Amino acid sequence: MINLLSDTATKPTQEMLTAMLEAEVGDDVFGEDPSVNQLEAHVAEMFGHEAALFCPSGTMTNQLAIKVHTNALDEVICDHDSHIWHYESAGFAWHSGVRINPIAGHRGKLTASQVEGAIQPAYDWLARTRLVVLENTANRGGGAIYRLNEVDPILKVCKANNLALHLDGARLMNALVATGESPLEWGKRFDSISLCLSKGLGAPVGSMLTGNTDFIREARRFRKVMGGGMRQAGYLAAAGLYALQHQVERLDEDHKRAKRLGAILSQQAYVKSVRQIETNIVIFDVQDHLTADDVLSAYRQNGLIASAFGKRTIRMVTYLGIGDSEIAEAVGIIEKGM
Ligand SMILES: *Cc1c(COP(=O)(O)O)cnc(C)c1O
Repeated sequence: MINLLSDTATKPTQEMLTAMLEAEVGDDVFGEDPSVNQLEAHVAEMFGHEAALFCPSGTMTNQLAIKVHTNALDEVICDHDSHIWHYESAGFAWHSGVRINPIAGHRGKLTASQVEGAIQPAYDWLARTRLVVLENTANRGGGAIYRLNEVDPILKVCKANNLALHLDGARLMNALVATGESPLEWGKRFDSISLCLSKGLGAPVGSMLTGNTDFIREARRFRKVMGGGMRQAGYLAAAGLYALQHQVERLDEDHKRAKRLGAILSQQAYVKSVRQIETNIVIFDVQDHLTADDVLSAYRQNGLIASAFGKRTIRMVTYLGIGDSEIAEAVGIIEKGM
């Protein structure tokens, strides 16, 4: 089976497993795991932030950011396609007692004037706007990339209105490899950043949260409250560090392979249209007389799995483990079609 469901399907390479086996470990709840400490220092430095925190998942790093940046009855502004709005089980309400104001942006991205227009005036009967969350790349936006020059005017609005700015950078490295922008420049603009190690970067588990010392101290406390204090987590941290040191540049290959799939898809009679492909996510619509499930079951019979992204919409994701031979096979199955 060729699995194009998600870039979370990555498995550790032999070299990564070796790095994990050789990791020095300790009890991270006491702050005594050298490999976790090394990873946290590495990522903090990468973004020019004071501190970082290793967590089990990107959901947890986003939820911690919301928890620390807000008080109950506050409001969070984000795009209506955001991960925090769709895919975190309404955890913002559960953990933080806040409301979300989901704004209809373009391909998962907001503009400064949309953010400004969403800020609530200070009336007793309104929630208090406190936090803006951007997503780069935008997952439901089809892997769309924010550029720094799009972030700058949003940052200006945040500063003028005393709002914190968090980045859900689950796939930030995909964006930065594509644009050539630097992590330091991104770090400068955000109060906190969440980065997944277990997507395209290829680690088996883990996400990082970065911010200033006070922010991370609080996040660390709430991580424990949520049950995310891990003991000899250094075995996992070693995988994350390996990924950041060896598996960032190769994300470009995933992007090229996604574009190749898109080019082949756009030639198929059963495909109505392929959305713009900027990184490793391919989203396309099938013709009106078909459903996504019709096409997906034909694919599956021929050895390819992808996911429905709506009644007539399909998503495919490329990642470490989908090399040229897998792409060649996938192309054959796509061309065979229905
Ligand atoms: C995958 C993802 C996350 C975090 O997901 P986990 O599965 O909890 O690690 C957060 N934001 C975006 C945009 C994602 O794609």
